[in-house]
Amino acid sequence: MSIVIIAPTRDGQIWKNELLELDNSLDIEIYPNVKNPENVNCAILWLHPYGCLKQFSNLKLICSMGAGVDHILNDPELPEIPVTRIVSDTISTSMSNYVIMAVLQHHRMMEKFEVDQNNKVWDQATFPEREVKIGILGLGVLGSDVATKLVHLGFEVHGLSKSRKNIEGVTSHIEDDPGGFFREINVLVCLLPMTEETRGYLSHSLFNRLEKPCYLISVGRGFQQKEVDILEALDNGKLNGAFIDVFEVEPLPESSPLWDHPKVKLTPHNASITNPKAAVPIIYDNYRRMVEGRDVIHEVSKSKGY
Ligand code: NDP
Repeated sequence: MSIVIIAPTRDGQIWKNELLELDNSLDIEIYPNVKNPENVNCAILWLHPYGCLKQFSNLKLICSMGAGVDHILNDPELPEIPVTRIVSDTISTSMSNYVIMAVLQHHRMMEKFEVDQNNKVWDQATFPEREVKIGILGLGVLGSDVATKLVHLGFEVHGLSKSRKNIEGVTSHIEDDPGGFFREINVLVCLLPMTEETRGYLSHSLFNRLEKPCYLISVGRGFQQKEVDILEALDNGKLNGAFIDVFEVEPLPESSPLWDHPKVKLTPHNASITNPKAAVPIIYDNYRRMVEGRDVIHEVSKSKGY
């Protein structure tokens, strides 16, 4: 029995070392250096080359290295075995802190006060807080954590998900009947998973439903947004600014007008990077469960796509 790590964009050795610290009897190989593919029964993946899994004929478990699983579920040759993801307080805390940072700098009008500082302007007459009503697309593990924390900070928070949620202080709307979600909000946070339904979600058809100009915070996945539409919405006033972490093409090409758009702040898809120290114990727990024939945890639904 052995484990393979297939993560061309990450340092697999760090993940291997963390696993060996938990259990030094593990047999772990880093793709593509796999001597006996037929011995592999667990694959730990991040952006694996599609098709490569078929060489592991005894694979029983696939573990995503992060919270997202679209990179795995989109593999057209994915074997019919459980796929798990990382659910951890450290991922939720990083994501919530990122979204709160983006909300607060908008709420406290930091773009104005940065200009004032550059011009040595002391403006105490302007009331320094914008009223914000926040709408969160996706009230899953990450969306519900940030929603709860924003409520504790005193903000009005609405959430949109497939099923209705009961989160203290948060007004829950469902996708089939979004009701007041689009009417009330002036900050829109996207924390949806990447599925066929959410592909291109942040586009004109959504922005046209917003009744007030909105500040967009996009932290789900790049393919959920149409950047051409975001740029147009920034120009026509449907959006009054955007804080973006994920992009249709990553790394964001130098030619993208988003880089120097005056109403855009952006980061290089690092809102919440999985910390191997936090993720590896979850993967190891699931590995033990698989070996002992117990149910794995944090399994994703292939039919739902998340
Ligand atoms: P979850 O699977 O826990 O939650 C997804 C939520 O989205 C659920 O509430 C679900 O509704 C809702 N949802 C799904 N489809 C729709 C739809 N079509 N319309 C409305 N609501 C929908 O995911 P997480 O919260 O853990 O993570 C969300 C995403 O964040 C990840 O998939 C990943 O892509 C992204 N991410 C980004 C990171 C970054 O650094 N930028 C880091 C980590 C994650 P219901 O509950 O009813 O099923």
